[in-house]
Amino acid sequence: MEDINDIRLGSTIPFTDQELQRWTALQRIKAENQKLRNLVSCRICRINRISCVLQCGHLTCRNCAEPLVCCPVCDTPIRNKYCVYLHPPYLKEN
Ligand SMILES: [Zn+2]
Ligand SMILES: [Zn+2]
Repeated sequence: MEDINDIRLGSTIPFTDQELQRWTALQRIKAENQKLRNLVSCRICRINRISCVLQCGHLTCRNCAEPLVCCPVCDTPIRNKYCVYLHPPYLKEN
């Protein structure tokens, strides 16, 4: 129950069991969402989506990959970079 300390909803405390269940479910979804965002985010700038794979296999966005001469994660000299498409344009609705 230590999670209860993180609730910042003020006046709605105390929670009913149902509210607490809903809140817990919401936190789980938020955490999952954050995890997925991290997975597709560039490790260097943490802003852009991954769009390049370095020859060592590490992933960055195109902006960060551009000036790289060695991988910031594993120090492998980079001679080749490849574009990857997580969301290919042909999957767009319009
Ligand atoms: Zn980046
Ligand atoms: Zn690497």
